[in-house]
Amino acid sequence: MKRYDTIVIGIGGMGSAALWQLARRGRRVLGIERFDLGHAMGSSHGLNRIIRLSYFEHPDYVPLLRRAYALWREAERLAGEQLLFVTGSIDGGAEQSRVVQGSLRACRLHDLPHELLTAAEAARRFPGYRLPRGYAAVYQPDGGFVASERAILAHAALAVAEGAEIHGREKVVAIEPGQGRVVVVTDRGRYEAGTVIAAPGAWISDLVPALGPVAVPERQVLGWFLPRDPALFAPGIFPVSNVLTEIGHFYQFPAWGIPGFKIGLYNHLREHGHADALSREPTPADEEALRRGIRLLFPEADGPTLRLAACLFTNTPDEHFVVDRLPGAPEVVVASPCSGHGFKFASVMGEILADLATDGTSRMDLSLFGIGRFGGTAAEGGKA
Ligand SMILES: Cc1cc2nc3c(=O)[nH]c(=O)nc-3n(C[C@H](O)[C@H](O)[C@H](O)COP(=O)(O)OP(=O)(O)OC[C@H]3O[C@@H](n4cnc5c(N)ncnc54)[C@H](O)[C@@H]3O)c2cc1C
Repeated sequence: MKRYDTIVIGIGGMGSAALWQLARRGRRVLGIERFDLGHAMGSSHGLNRIIRLSYFEHPDYVPLLRRAYALWREAERLAGEQLLFVTGSIDGGAEQSRVVQGSLRACRLHDLPHELLTAAEAARRFPGYRLPRGYAAVYQPDGGFVASERAILAHAALAVAEGAEIHGREKVVAIEPGQGRVVVVTDRGRYEAGTVIAAPGAWISDLVPALGPVAVPERQVLGWFLPRDPALFAPGIFPVSNVLTEIGHFYQFPAWGIPGFKIGLYNHLREHGHADALSREPTPADEEALRRGIRLLFPEADGPTLRLAACLFTNTPDEHFVVDRLPGAPEVVVASPCSGHGFKFASVMGEILADLATDGTSRMDLSLFGIGRFGGTAAEGGKA
């Protein structure tokens, strides 16, 4: 049986970053990915993901975000390609909504530059935006997006350059901790390691059944649409955004990579199930759900469809992450699920996971992410 210091399971957003962080420390590491490297079955495809500092979800994410920005910049410098694009970000909705108030709270607590705009001011400044009257928009200039598909490949390439081994098209079927080491069983063989990082995204409950009740995959669909006036939706003109409306919580991007405005709807059609069972085939109902948001908020983008893509969220009850050592098996570190807002953190999660796997602790505050908060089987952990 081949032996490694650490095995990383799942070479997606979190796993690819962890693999690099371990390899650059001189650790003997193996990354195992069940599909092709850079596939479109999980949670990270669809070209890019929003990154923003004014974190309406909870202000405690801001220090993690500052470190995430620094590590994205470091990765792109070493990889020789741009991964982080700054466009500014908008958090919009009714003035008292949790998105607007949460964003303002994060800005004020962490002294982030920001402006509070009315709907009319936002439309004058960013003419692709037509927020309903009475809405407010928090503009924060550091927001933007990370090229998620490129970032996974860049992290993987950096890891390999530091000596990491990666196996694609190999599925982990069991993690067997015991006596201070872990055996990883796959459909091709068995490997042994001192520690394991389990970052299998939407499939986490297959490998860590204790998380089954609290890590629920959910089908999402992203859409790209050709605007009537593409210039209004160019990067540099159109900031990324989150807008909470009466018909749903929409998030959007300027045209990049594909020549169309990109939009998604949090929780989409509320379809839950096992990651293998959720359809990756977009339907007319998926498109209509996105067009409703376009018609309400971005009417100039209501043009022909360019692409639709299905993707998976994995939600916890409180929508915070799970990043912890497994109770009863501390040599197994679990990462994700990231409840639909995790990619921006992948760079810093890589560092945190590497710290947990090597030192058992992290200098970042992880108190929002402990497994113990769920009680029940999750808190008991036990066999992975
Ligand atoms: C439509 C959509 C929009 C989103 N928008 C944003 C956004 O704007 N900003 C943001 O920050 N976040 C966003 N997110 C969330 C973010 O993309 C996820 O939090 C992030 O991609 C999760 O990364 P991951 O590494 O956990 O999962 P993945 O990248 O899916 O990686 C998990 C990997 O594990 C592999 N794997 C699974 N099981 C096994 C096994 N048994 N053996 C080996 N390998 C295995 C999988 O094949 C996969 O490659 C969005 C998500 C979706 C779906």
